[in-house]
Amino acid sequence: MPSVAVETFCNLIAGQWVPSATGRLFDNLNPADRREVVGRFQACGAADARAAVDAAQAAFAGWRNTPIGKRAKILQDAAAWLEAHADAFAAELTREEGKPLALAKDEFLRSAQTLRFYAVEGQSYTGETFPQDDREMMVYTQREPLGVVTVISPWNFPVSIPARKIAPALITGNTVVFKPSSDAPLSGYRLAESLARAGLPAGVLNFITGAASELGATLCESGAVRAISFTGSTAAGTHIHRHASLTTRVQLELGGKNPLIVMEDADLDRAVDLAIKGGLSLTGQACTGTSRILVMKPVLDAYVDKLAARMRTLKIGSGMVAGNDIGPMATAAQLETVLKYVEIGRREATHIMGGERLDGAAHAELAHGWYVSPALFTGVTMDMRIAQEEIFGPVLAVIAVDSYADAIAKANATPYGLSAAIATRNPRYMHDFANDIEAGTVKINRTTTGNLVNAPFGGLKSSSTSTFRESGRGALEFYTQIKTVYRGL
Ligand code: NAD
Repeated sequence: MPSVAVETFCNLIAGQWVPSATGRLFDNLNPADRREVVGRFQACGAADARAAVDAAQAAFAGWRNTPIGKRAKILQDAAAWLEAHADAFAAELTREEGKPLALAKDEFLRSAQTLRFYAVEGQSYTGETFPQDDREMMVYTQREPLGVVTVISPWNFPVSIPARKIAPALITGNTVVFKPSSDAPLSGYRLAESLARAGLPAGVLNFITGAASELGATLCESGAVRAISFTGSTAAGTHIHRHASLTTRVQLELGGKNPLIVMEDADLDRAVDLAIKGGLSLTGQACTGTSRILVMKPVLDAYVDKLAARMRTLKIGSGMVAGNDIGPMATAAQLETVLKYVEIGRREATHIMGGERLDGAAHAELAHGWYVSPALFTGVTMDMRIAQEEIFGPVLAVIAVDSYADAIAKANATPYGLSAAIATRNPRYMHDFANDIEAGTVKINRTTTGNLVNAPFGGLKSSSTSTFRESGRGALEFYTQIKTVYRGL
C-alpha cells in the first residue's frame, strides 16, 4: 500500500495542544488493514494526567460562573462544526474502528444532536421549591456542579459515548478530563477539537491519551476528581469502583450478555432481522448487542434455518465499501477473544456455521484486517460459557425454551442486565416482559441495540452501577449536587 505521512495528534491541556511529557507516541491502526497507521497519539504518563486534572481544577471557578447561555452556545457551535465535517470525521471513525461508514456518520450526527440536546435541556434543569408553614421563609434546592470530572470511554462508540458524558458535564458547569480508548482515539480528539474551536475556555475540557495502567490511578483515585463517568468492561469498572475516593461520584456503564426472546407467535422473518441487526451489525461489538437468542421449541428449527440462511448472505469487508454488512473486529485482542470463544463454543454446543478467521488465500482482500465470519451455535444451555460470558463479537448462541416463564428465567440467568428484547405479537407477553426482565433497556419487537439521546440509558445488575443514568435528564443529575436552602427574611 502507498505510504502516506502520518499525522501526530497532541493532548489538550489548559487550552494548549501539547505533546506528552513522556516524549512517547503510540499508533492508532486501521483494523480493516493494519498496515495503515491512522494517526499517532501521545503515550501519556502520570505527570500528564496530573497536569490535566490541575488544569481542570484551575478552570472550575471561572466555568461554573460562566452564564449558562454562553455555555450552551459553545455546545451548539461545537455541534455545528461536527455536523459540517461529519463526512470526513465518519471516514476517520471507520478507519480507526472499522464500523460501516454510514453508521460512523450516524454516530457523529448523533453526537452533535447530543450536544444540542444538553445545550437546551441543561438550561431548564432546576431545583425545587417546597411548601411549608412559615410565610417568612422560602425553602428550595439549588443544583451546583461537582467540580473536576473524569470521562473514560471505550473504542466501540468512540465519539457518541464521550459526547453523552461530556455535554451534560459541561452544561452544568463542571470541568472535564477526557481519556478515550487508545484503540480509537481520533474520533474523541475531534470532539475535543470541536469544543475548543467553539471557544471553550482553557482548562475546561482536557484531552489526554495513553494506557490506563499509566493514567488510571491519577484520573480515578485522586480526591481532586469529584466524579468519574466510565464506560467499558465490567473488569475495569470493578477496579475503578474499588479504588475511587469516598468523595468521588461514580457512574459505570459496563458489559452485557443481551438476550432476544423469540416467542412461538413471532413473525420469524422480523425476529431474524432483530438478531442480524442487533447481534451482527457493528460486528457484534455493541454493549447492547444481542448475543443470546432464546427460541420457543415449536419454532426453533424454522427459526435457526432462516437465521443461518440470512447469515450466509452477509457481506464481510471494509466499512469503507458501501454494501458491506460486517466490518473487522476493532482490535487484535478482540479478534483473539472471539476466536477463543468460538473454540469454547465448538466444544460446548452445536456449531452451525462461522467463527473462522478470514485471512487465507480465499479471502486475500481481507488478509491485512482483523476479520472473522459471524458464528452461530445451537444446543446452548445456560451453564455454558458462551451463554454466560460477554464475547463482544459476531457470535450468536441459540437456546431452546419451553415456555414464556422458561424464557424469562433463562434470560435473567446471567450476572448482566443491560438490554433485552422480545419478538412477539401477543400483548400479554409484551406487558409481562417489561415487568419480568432484568434489564435497564427493554425492547419489544425492536433490536437490543440502539438508544435515544433524550431517554435514560444504563444497565441493571453487573452491567452498571445503576447510580445515575446516562442520556436524558439523568446525566444532568449525575453531574450536579443539591443544596437545600432555608431562606428567611
Ligand atoms: P475496557 O474496559 O478495556 O476500556 C474502556 C476504557 O477504560 C478505555 O479507555 C481504557 O483505557 C480504560 N481503562 C481500562 N482499565 C482502566 C482502569 N483500571 N482505570 C481507568 N481506565 C481504565 O473496554 P473496551 O474494550 O474499550 O470496551 C469494550 C467493553 O465496553 C465491553 O465490555 C462493552 O460491553 C463495554 N461497553 C459498555 C457500554 C455501556 O454503555 N454499558 C457501551 C460500550 C461498551
